[in-house]
Amino acid sequence: MADKHSMSEMDQKLVNVKIDGKAITAPASLSAIQALWYAGYSRIKSVGCLEGVCGSCRVLVRRAGNSEVRTQLGCQTLIEEGMQVMFLVFPRPTHHTYKLEEISSSWEVQTKFHKIFPEASRCRECRGCNASCPKEIDVMKGVALAAKGRFREAGELFVECVMCDLCLTACPELIAPNHVGLFSRRVTAYFHTRPSNLIRRLEGLQRGKFKVNVEGETP
Ligand code: SF4
Ligand code: SF4
Repeated sequence: MADKHSMSEMDQKLVNVKIDGKAITAPASLSAIQALWYAGYSRIKSVGCLEGVCGSCRVLVRRAGNSEVRTQLGCQTLIEEGMQVMFLVFPRPTHHTYKLEEISSSWEVQTKFHKIFPEASRCRECRGCNASCPKEIDVMKGVALAAKGRFREAGELFVECVMCDLCLTACPELIAPNHVGLFSRRVTAYFHTRPSNLIRRLEGLQRGKFKVNVEGETP
């Protein structure tokens, strides 16, 4: 295998890991996906953008000397000596379906939300969603905000969500928290509820708090 790799790779510290049960020795600078490829194993399932934004490469990770098993993204997990990694291939599809155009006005959103996501108000605050989220989103709070009809605030919490479905899989109440987040963001945009930071910025501009540089104008 050595001749397949460049000298700069070989100069790096090598670590021993197990990925999907395969014993692999690879440079510590590689992610779990890259380490698999480095060792000559092909992997197509559960691999997407490689930059942590597509949510495809969900993995279970256990570090040496630590009994805790964590959920992370394979493309964002740098390998360490003694690490064990297992790719998760699912998901359980969500059973929540809706069409935004069937919601006639913003007055109806809350009622419709509880029809589409009747489980949301049954959140048992187990924090399984928060513990599983590789983006460290306060998922449980997002669900609670949406259940109260505070969709703009709920949607803002889910901005970093990559739809990896880990929270959906972890939820014992079948709430599909990531879809609650997506619904919140969609209705906020659909009914033109502007984001609060944009509103604050525009208010600041109106009060003359910020200078506007219009092209061609001298400052
Ligand atoms: S909120 Fe859920 S779907 Fe989104 S990144 Fe976190 S665990 Fe993944
Ligand atoms: S996993 Fe489900 S029930 Fe548990 S806190 Fe999250 S949304 Fe609530």
